[in-house]
Amino acid sequence: MLKYLFYFSLVFMLSACSEQQILKTDSMKLLSSICKGADSQTLVIFDMDNVLTESQERAFQADLYEQIKNIVFDYKKVFKNLSPADQEKIKCEQWLIPVQLVDYCMPKLIKTIQSRGVKTLMLTSNPCGKLGSIESIEELCISRLEHFGIDFSKSWNISEQRLRDEENKSLGIFYKGGIFTMAAKPLALKSFLKQIPNCKFTKIIFIDDKKENLEKMLNFSKIRNLNYVGIEYSKVFTKKRPETDINAIKQNLKNLFQLSNL
Ligand SMILES: [Mg+2]
Repeated sequence: MLKYLFYFSLVFMLSACSEQQILKTDSMKLLSSICKGADSQTLVIFDMDNVLTESQERAFQADLYEQIKNIVFDYKKVFKNLSPADQEKIKCEQWLIPVQLVDYCMPKLIKTIQSRGVKTLMLTSNPCGKLGSIESIEELCISRLEHFGIDFSKSWNISEQRLRDEENKSLGIFYKGGIFTMAAKPLALKSFLKQIPNCKFTKIIFIDDKKENLEKMLNFSKIRNLNYVGIEYSKVFTKKRPETDINAIKQNLKNLFQLSNL
C-alpha cells in the first residue's frame, strides 16, 4: 500500500512540474523570445504549410480560404469524379506551383536556434514518395526549404527513416530533418523519437497554424510529462497582401484545373 502511495505521489509531483500551454501569435518577435527559452533538451518543431511556406498562387493562400470555400467545395465534387490518372495529374500540377516563405525572417530564426545546439525538426501532414512526374514529394519539399536557407537535417545524424506504429503500419517517413506523415502528428513524432533513444527531451516547442494539431501535441506532452509551448502561428492570415479581385481568383482556379463547370 505504501509503495502505491509513494508511486502516486511521485507521479503527481512530476506532473505538477511540467507545464503545457498554447498561445496564438503572428509576431516573429514573440516567437524568437519563446525560442530563446529552448535548450539542448528542447525539441523545436515547425509545421511546413502556412508556417514556413505558402503557395505563391494567390488563390491558395490561407486568408482567402473562407471567401473561396464554395468554389473549392464544387471543385472537390468535380475532382472526385475524375479518373485516377486525371486526379494524379491535377495533384501533381498543384504540387508544382512554386511556394514562398510565410515570413522572410523565419530562416534566420531557425539558424539562430540551431546555432545554440537546439534540435529542430519539421513535421508536416504531407505524403511522401512519387507522385506523377514528381519522383519524391519529400525531396521536393526539402529542396524548396534549402533554397530558402532552411536546413533541418543539421540537427540529426540519420538522414532517412521509415516510421511505423506499434502494429507495424506505415506512419510516413523521416527525411533530411523532416517528418512527412498522413497520420496524427504526435503518432509520427512518437515513432521518430523511438529511433533516437539517446535524445532525451524535457520540452517541446511546436509551431503550427492548426489548433487541432497543437492540442493533440499538448496531450502527447502531458502524458509524457514534457513541458510544452504550442504556438498557433497566424501570420498567413494577418500579413499584408495585395488587393485581391475574388472573381479573378475564381477564373484563376478554373484555368489551373481546366474545369469549365465550376
Ligand atoms: Mg500547416
